Amino acid sequence: MNMKKVNLLDLDLDALTTQVKAWGYPAFRAKQLYRQLWVNAVARFEDMSDLPAAFRDFLNEHACISNLRLMLEREGDGGLTRKAVFALPGNETVEAVLMVYPGRATVCVSSQAGCPMGCVFCATAKLGFLQDLSPGDIAHQVLWAQRALAEVPGRIEPEGAARHRVHGPEDVPARLTNAVFMGMGEPFNNYTNWRASVERLHDPGGFNFGARNFTVSTVGLVPGIRKLMDDPLQINLAISLHAADDEIRSAMMPVNKRYPIAELIASVRDYTEKTHRRVSFEYVLIEGKNDDLEEARKLADLLLMGGKFPMHVNLIPLNPVDDIGMSRSSRERVSAFRDYLESRGVPATVRIQRGMDIDAACGQLAGDLARDLQQAAAGTKG
Ligand code: SF4
Repeated sequence: MNMKKVNLLDLDLDALTTQVKAWGYPAFRAKQLYRQLWVNAVARFEDMSDLPAAFRDFLNEHACISNLRLMLEREGDGGLTRKAVFALPGNETVEAVLMVYPGRATVCVSSQAGCPMGCVFCATAKLGFLQDLSPGDIAHQVLWAQRALAEVPGRIEPEGAARHRVHGPEDVPARLTNAVFMGMGEPFNNYTNWRASVERLHDPGGFNFGARNFTVSTVGLVPGIRKLMDDPLQINLAISLHAADDEIRSAMMPVNKRYPIAELIASVRDYTEKTHRRVSFEYVLIEGKNDDLEEARKLADLLLMGGKFPMHVNLIPLNPVDDIGMSRSSRERVSAFRDYLESRGVPATVRIQRGMDIDAACGQLAGDLARDLQQAAAGTKG
């Protein structure tokens, strides 16, 4: 019978020390192991050269670095975007995307396999909810991105991305600069594990990632926003808003029936008042649904009602998803929407499209791979 292996990235240094001692090894081995995992971001026990071979063999048998197995990596945007698809032990898949810009490198991380939130424009929603990721499995994606960053070529000028060129090795940061929890799943629906992953990555004795370098994106789970405002770590907050009208938003995002716009915005205002931090609103522009000037007017009214607060609107033309019968807004409509918001004093930018050529948008590749893996598993059983 297979013994369940210990998932090492789930453990903080104290828990790892307890585990290593329970295995009969001295505490200093835990420190070495922790350093390899979190400072050096090493992905295989065999590469932990300061550990004795016998201990590495023992670890291979009794532990895993995380539950996630890297299934495939794809490159796009001339090497500036890299996507990883990982499989969990039950073959559920999750994905992470690394995006490199001049002087910064951002990883987009998944917090759940699949998602229970049911947003109609989202490919991940079509998978349904599969499972929560553990703290180590969430953090693992950030460590993957740190390793992947080393493989990004120094000078790349992708076609059509002239504004975002990385000109030379000095422009590719050696360290990851941002982690955004905007991949598959709703982080506040897996709050405890998500927050524990931040704690692990933030540890100055480990990966040492600054709190301000994290951004958590929520579909609008008000209790999560209220919890975050009391958090001692200064984690950035983004809200997936996508409509300024309850009828339209509820049709796009079922969560709105539970936490309507007024309640959501009230919680965001309380958050900015308490933390003095700027909040981002994400707004996916869908042709004919939420992208005309009347919707822009409602959005400006909503955000300005009750006085200005520190915020920014990111406009994101919809990434095409099969079978949902929706298309992205035209360039003209996107510009007109942004210009209207700006004219009302609402700061807005159009988000750069990255990863289109590798399906780095919300869950698309994972959906395909999940089907392949399930078919393979069914074939094996049969
Ligand atoms: S958009 Fe985000 S919250 Fe909504 S279903 Fe997709 S992954 Fe879940």
